[in-house]
Amino acid sequence: MKYFDYAATTPPFEEVITTVAEVMRRHYGNPSSMHRYGEDADKLIKRSREVCAAALGVSPAEIVFTSGATESNNLAVKGAALHYQTRGKHIVTVSTEHPSVYEACKQLTNLGFEVTFLPVDEKGHVSAEQVCAAVRKDTILVSIMHVNNETGRVQPLRDIGVALKKRFPRVLFHIDGVQGFGKLPVDLRGWQADLYSLSAHKLRGPKGAGLLFVREGVELFPLLSGGSQEQGVRAGTENVPLLVGMSKAVRLAGERQAETARRMIEWRERVAAEVKTIPQLRLNSGKEAPHIVHFSYPGMKAEVLLHTLEQLGVAVSTKSACSSKLAEPSRVLLAMGRNEAEAAGGIRISFGDEHTEQDIDELILALRQAVAKLESLERWKR
Ligand code: PMP
Repeated sequence: MKYFDYAATTPPFEEVITTVAEVMRRHYGNPSSMHRYGEDADKLIKRSREVCAAALGVSPAEIVFTSGATESNNLAVKGAALHYQTRGKHIVTVSTEHPSVYEACKQLTNLGFEVTFLPVDEKGHVSAEQVCAAVRKDTILVSIMHVNNETGRVQPLRDIGVALKKRFPRVLFHIDGVQGFGKLPVDLRGWQADLYSLSAHKLRGPKGAGLLFVREGVELFPLLSGGSQEQGVRAGTENVPLLVGMSKAVRLAGERQAETARRMIEWRERVAAEVKTIPQLRLNSGKEAPHIVHFSYPGMKAEVLLHTLEQLGVAVSTKSACSSKLAEPSRVLLAMGRNEAEAAGGIRISFGDEHTEQDIDELILALRQAVAKLESLERWKR
């Protein structure tokens, strides 16, 4: 079986697995303890923070460790909203955001906040003009993802950040960077980001570890009450093994980004070209994120194609992993103007740095065979 669901999660680097086990075994002290066990663990956390900060081109004091990007996104959105609510109670985001931003924003509406969910064009994009036009006197936060986790569409973050900060310097800019880091260049200062979320398990790091970049001077209302870990923003004993493991993965993913992208782009173009030759399929991804090809098979339930592909030896995804068990058609595809049938028949193929040309050959063959098989069944039914 070949795994083509790297946008859902990735197999950890061998080096990460060894490191996590090693830290669990040997460095089990609580980083807050005053004795040498504590100091030892604290040093590891400090080093991990420096490594992550270096990979993002920011300072270590601006990194807050979390349990993953769901937490980072919640902390960014709700933490900023609750801290800055005396300035205003309006947030701008996009209708195609990941549920950890989308639902966090919706939840805030129950607390008296107003949220503008910007529509996207048929390619899934918002423009800087759209964002600026939605900003009001009481807007405190704009939250926009880098790469869409379903379609691989990329938002124009530099244009948005520069335009936003020029006109509205006090409005915070949060980026969900989960699907972009390690695949595309990242420039947090150039994008004028105030907050930026990452997750380790999308980068061949461990599950249950993530980070939030919080620009110096930005304050957040902590979502967890407790100790003073993570500069008081995220209480709780640090998960030392996973955070050290994450820092390794972040460093490797950052260092290898250009080479990873170069290889993936070739695969993406081969698979996308194949999709275009199959008249039943409609491509939803573009020449944007290197690692994602997404298409619709209108009239066919996505799960049926997924299981047919699985029988042929390849694992892909319907929608995103976080919402694939929900029965409704994809909110992201509907927002891009796709009809119900197209939005219910979405398939995502996502590559990892470990793939080979031969894997891609097998994937393409399986795709051809799966569609042919389903079409012959359909004809027989008719
Ligand atoms: N944002 C995006 C764009 C994602 O793809 C994901 C993972 N599906 C998340 C946030 C949530 O990350 P985590 O699994 O670490 O909670």
